[in-house]
Amino acid sequence: MTVSEATRARVRAAAGERCGYCRVPARHVYAQMQIDHILPQSKGGRDDESNLWLSCPRCNGFKRDQTQGLDPVTGRRLRLFNPRRQVWERHFRMNDDGTIIGRTARGRATIEALHMNYTPSVMIRRNLLRAGWQPSP
Ligand SMILES: [Zn+2]
Repeated sequence: MTVSEATRARVRAAAGERCGYCRVPARHVYAQMQIDHILPQSKGGRDDESNLWLSCPRCNGFKRDQTQGLDPVTGRRLRLFNPRRQVWERHFRMNDDGTIIGRTARGRATIEALHMNYTPSVMIRRNLLRAGWQPSP
């Protein structure tokens, strides 16, 4: 199945036009933002709006068909952050330098799985923060 344009538009609006994982605003991403299947289609995830969220190509590219990540502190495997059902600020915070810090084991596991602190991504977030183009941490 494919996701209709109307559904895509609703998902983009619900996500506030930014990546549900790293929070980069869509207007500052050179490539087209993607509709993420929170539960991947390869694992039975459907095209229902409840399973969809907005993602930047980098986060979605690293996420692929993963549903779990490894928390580097506890060594536990945990389900990835669900940007539709969970509150970003509860699981993550963003430092002034653009680094995303995990507040919870699930947040840390998601940061690792999605490589959210990849150096160029951190530099872009830092510059967006300094320019006032990214909501402040
Ligand atoms: Zn992202």
